[in-house]
Amino acid sequence: MSSKSYPYTPATALAQALGKIDQESQGVVLPIHVATTYIRGKDNSYPTGNIYSRADNPTYKPVEELLCQLEQGHQALLFGSGMAAATAVFQGLRPGDHVLAPKVMYWALRNWLLNFATDWGLVIEFIDMTQLSEVSKALQPGKTKLVWLETPGNPMWTISDIAEISALAKGAGAFVAVDSTCATPLLTQPLTIGADIVMHSATKYLNGHSDVIAGALITKHDNDYWQRIRAVRAQGGAVPSPHDAAQLLRGMRTMHLRVRESCANAMFLAQQLEQHPQIIEVLYPGLPSFSGHDVATKQMHGGFGGMFSIRVQGGEQAAVHLAANTKLWKRATSLGGVESLIEHRASVEGAGTPCPPDLLRLSAGIEDKDELLADILQALPK
Ligand SMILES: *Cc1c(COP(=O)(O)O)cnc(C)c1O
Repeated sequence: MSSKSYPYTPATALAQALGKIDQESQGVVLPIHVATTYIRGKDNSYPTGNIYSRADNPTYKPVEELLCQLEQGHQALLFGSGMAAATAVFQGLRPGDHVLAPKVMYWALRNWLLNFATDWGLVIEFIDMTQLSEVSKALQPGKTKLVWLETPGNPMWTISDIAEISALAKGAGAFVAVDSTCATPLLTQPLTIGADIVMHSATKYLNGHSDVIAGALITKHDNDYWQRIRAVRAQGGAVPSPHDAAQLLRGMRTMHLRVRESCANAMFLAQQLEQHPQIIEVLYPGLPSFSGHDVATKQMHGGFGGMFSIRVQGGEQAAVHLAANTKLWKRATSLGGVESLIEHRASVEGAGTPCPPDLLRLSAGIEDKDELLADILQALPK
C-alpha cells in the first residue's frame, strides 16, 4: 500500500487524491463500495482480497494510501472514529505492559485509559512529557512497551519533543505513538523523526467540515504489534461506513488550503489577543512567549496549528460570559472544521482537568480574521 514513490508535493497529492481515477467508468471521483460481502473464486480463494466489510472495504484504500503518502508511512488504517483508532493502539498491548502517557492529553482518551485500559491490566503512568528528564526516569527497559504522545496537546497545547522522546523510548525498547490530530499531516510528520505510529482523529482537520466521524493510524513498520492492531480493527469491526470514507476523501482534497487559513487566523488572533488587557494569557505554540515555542519551531513546519486557548480576566464567570456572547464563534465541542468554535473546557472535562477555570479553547476556522477578532472583543465582559 505504501505510495512513497508518488513524486508530487502534499498540495498536489491532496487536491488530486493521488491522481486516481475510476478505471471502469473513467470518473475523476472514485466510487463508493457499499457491498458487505464478496464472491469467492472457484478455487475458494478471494482473488481481490476483499472478503467481508466488517474487516475492510475498498473505499478506504485511496484514503489510506493518501495518508501513507502524507505521513511517509508503510501502511495506514481507517477507523470508525479517532477514539476507535487510539484505543486499538492500546488494545494491541498485553496485560502487565507499562505505558507512558502525557498529563495533558485528549480528555476522552485519558478517561478511557483510566476506566478501561487499567482494568484490563495495562499499567499507565501519566507524566509531564515536556520534561525529557521525566521521560528517561519513567521509562522501564523491557517493561515499557508504549510511549503515547499528543502534540500540540489538548487543551493547553503543550509540545512534546517527538525526536528526543523517540530516541529515549527506542533505547528502552518501547514503541512511540503520536496523536497528531492538531498538528495535521501537513505541519508535522512524526514517522520521519522517530515515531512508530501516528494517530489522527479524521473527524477534525482531515475531513474539515464537521460532518464525518472517523479516525486513522499510520505505521512506519510492519511488525507483530501492527498486526495485532490490524486484528483489533478487523475482528472488532471498528470501521467507518464506506460513505463516510468517501466523504472524508472529498474533505481531504482541500485540507492544505483549510489548514493554511486556520493557522494564519490562529496566529493573528493569538498575537492580537495577547495584547489585550482583559486576556491574562494566550496559549499558542506560535507565540515566542509560549513555553513550547522552541520545540514547536523545530518539529512544526508551515504553521503552528489552528488551535489556541485564552485565559480571561475575571475567572470562570468572565470566560463563560465571553463564550455566551459570541455571534460568529459557535459554542460547541470539537475542532478542525471550517467554522470557528469556542468552548469552556473545565466544565467539559470536570474534576481532575489540567484546565484553569478561566480558560476557553478556540478552534480557528477559515472565516475573515478581522470579523473573528471583532466578535471576541465585543463578547468580552464590559
Ligand atoms: C477529537 C479528538 C480525538 C478523538 O477523535 P474522535 O474522532 O472524536 O473519536 C482524539 N484526539 C484528539 C486530539 C482529538 O481532538
